[in-house]
Amino acid sequence: VAAEGRSLTELRSVGPWVGRLLHLWFEDPPEVPEVPATRAGFMSLAEARAAIGDDDSWRRELRADLQMHTVYSDGSETVSEVAAHCAERGYEYIAITDHSKGLPIAGGIDEATLAGQMDEIERVNADLDGLTILRALEMNIGVDGSGDMDPEALKQLDLVVGSFHSQLRKTEDQTERYLAALENPFVHIVGHPRGRMYNRRRGLDADWKVVFETAAALGKAMEINAQPARQDLQVELLEIARDTEVLFSIGTDAHYESELDNVEFSLGAAAKVGIPKERIVNFWPLDRFRAWVGELQGRP
Ligand SMILES: [Zn+2]
Repeated sequence: VAAEGRSLTELRSVGPWVGRLLHLWFEDPPEVPEVPATRAGFMSLAEARAAIGDDDSWRRELRADLQMHTVYSDGSETVSEVAAHCAERGYEYIAITDHSKGLPIAGGIDEATLAGQMDEIERVNADLDGLTILRALEMNIGVDGSGDMDPEALKQLDLVVGSFHSQLRKTEDQTERYLAALENPFVHIVGHPRGRMYNRRRGLDADWKVVFETAAALGKAMEINAQPARQDLQVELLEIARDTEVLFSIGTDAHYESELDNVEFSLGAAAKVGIPKERIVNFWPLDRFRAWVGELQGRP
């Protein structure tokens, strides 16, 4: 932007004062301090786009976004509003994954509310052309791998993303926690696996090779969460995962419309690491995706 002589205030969150600071830094770059662990291993949007490069197939062939929130939990838009934004973005299918009841701080929903949302999704789906909304959930998972929802409710869903939201500052090895979550029969995808958050916590450690190999053996997917402050799994762990047979899932974890565009962070990480699209479930047609979940659910 600066090289083109445009104003830096065109950029989101940049006002005149920050714009002036940036110009001073361009002219006389300050010394960059060592990156603290809580900020290490994050890509900028420019880096993500550079990794995608000219290969338009990453965006063109992507069929789905598999994590997003609505007003049912802590998202800011309704099911039909979210669906309209995703239809504009050309997706074939999306998963609406509101939080489950074990996470009241994020407005987690109980079984009765989930049933109501499933009905609403059915109604919205009936009016959609070319986009299918999957009835899904971001289920809160305990450190013992257990979920917080009635299995009968979970069986009705098209997809369950299981995520840890507590005890994310542990420094001891957490391999057992991941194996327990993967062995939970109702979990299909492990969401934002490390639980890291930019500038706040560096995330959990585990024997990642064992975790990815276990996920692969169970046929489950690990998420590449596109939220810029998460980027979870990140490049460093994706390199380990690439060399196993594990499947991946991409989710923006969007809570409002503009966050749907963060998908480039996941695509950039996957492109950078050289993950074959074939192993990212979002690149599968809907019928293949449904068959995959059906198999995990023990359905024909
Ligand atoms: Zn989450």
